[in-house]
Amino acid sequence: MQKDIATPIRTKEILNKYGFSFKKSLGQNFLIDPNILRNITEVAGLTKHSGAIEIGPGIGALTEHLARTSKKVLAFEIDGRLLPILEDTLSPYTNVEILHQDVLKANLKTVIAEKFAGIEDLMVVANLPYYVTTPIIMKLLEEQLPLRGIVAMLQKEVADRIAAKPGTKEYGSLSIAIQYYTIPETAMIVPKTVFMPQPNVDSAVIRLIKRPQPAVQVINEEFFFDIIRKSFAQRRKTILNNLSNGFGKDQKEFILDALHKTDIDPKRRGETLTIEEFGKLSDSLWTLFN
Ligand code: SAM
Repeated sequence: MQKDIATPIRTKEILNKYGFSFKKSLGQNFLIDPNILRNITEVAGLTKHSGAIEIGPGIGALTEHLARTSKKVLAFEIDGRLLPILEDTLSPYTNVEILHQDVLKANLKTVIAEKFAGIEDLMVVANLPYYVTTPIIMKLLEEQLPLRGIVAMLQKEVADRIAAKPGTKEYGSLSIAIQYYTIPETAMIVPKTVFMPQPNVDSAVIRLIKRPQPAVQVINEEFFFDIIRKSFAQRRKTILNNLSNGFGKDQKEFILDALHKTDIDPKRRGETLTIEEFGKLSDSLWTLFN
C-alpha cells in the first residue's frame, strides 16, 4: 500500500515541493492524521461497490482513503493550484476523478447520472471548507440526489446545531432543515491538532443518513420552512409573537386559531416545538390562509 499523504512529514514535503500556501478564504485546513481519515471512511461504510463524492480534496489526504475503500471517487476542487498536486499525489489510484469546479455551482444531478451510472450506493464524504459548510449540505439535500448520505467534517458548533433536540439552546432552523431530510449522528469530536494549519475551533465528524421520506409530510414545503424561519426570528419571543411579526399583526387571529387547532400553547417558544408540531402547524395555517 502507498505511504499515506496525510502524515505531517509527507504533507510538508508536498507543500514545499509545490510552494503551496494556504488560502484561508477557501477554508483550507488539511488533515494530517491517517487515523482520523481511516475513521472517517469507516463511518461512511463504503464498500468496493460504493461511489464516493468528495468536496475539496486539498492535496488528496482523504481522497486516497476513499479511493482505497470504494469503487470510484469524484472530487470537486475549486482551487486550480491544487490540480497538478493532486495529479501527482493521486497518481497511484486509477479510480479517482477530479473536477476543477465550485461545488455550489455544479449541476450535481447531471454529474452523478453521468459519472456514477450503475453504482447504487453513493455517499458524499468530505472535510468541508468551513466558510460554506451549511450551503453545501443544504444543496446536497435539497437537490434530491440519489445519495445514501453524507459524512462530513465540520465545526463542532455546527454539528451540535444539526443534531440538536427540541428544548435545547442549539436547536433551531438548521436542526429542523437537516433532520427533515436525514437522521444525523455525531460520529466523533476532532481536536484542532489534526489539521494543518490548525483552525480556531474544534471540529466534529457528522453522519447524515437520508430518510426514505422527509420526517413529516406537509402540504407545502416552502411554507413549512417559512414558518420555521419566522418562528426562530427572535428566539426569546413566543411562537405567537414571532409568527404575528412574521406574517403581520392582522393575521394574529388566524395564527391563534391554528395554534389552538394543533394543541400548541401560544406562549411556547419555537425552540420547544418538534418537527411534527411544526408540520401540523404549517398545514393548519396553510389551510386557514388559503
Ligand atoms: N480534503 C482535504 C483534507 O481533508 O485535507 C482538504 C479539506 S479543506 C478543509 C477544504 C477544501 O475545499 C480545500 O481544498 C478548498 O480549496 C476546497 N474548497 C473550498 N471551497 C470550495 C468549493 N466551493 N467547491 C469545491 N471545493 C472547495
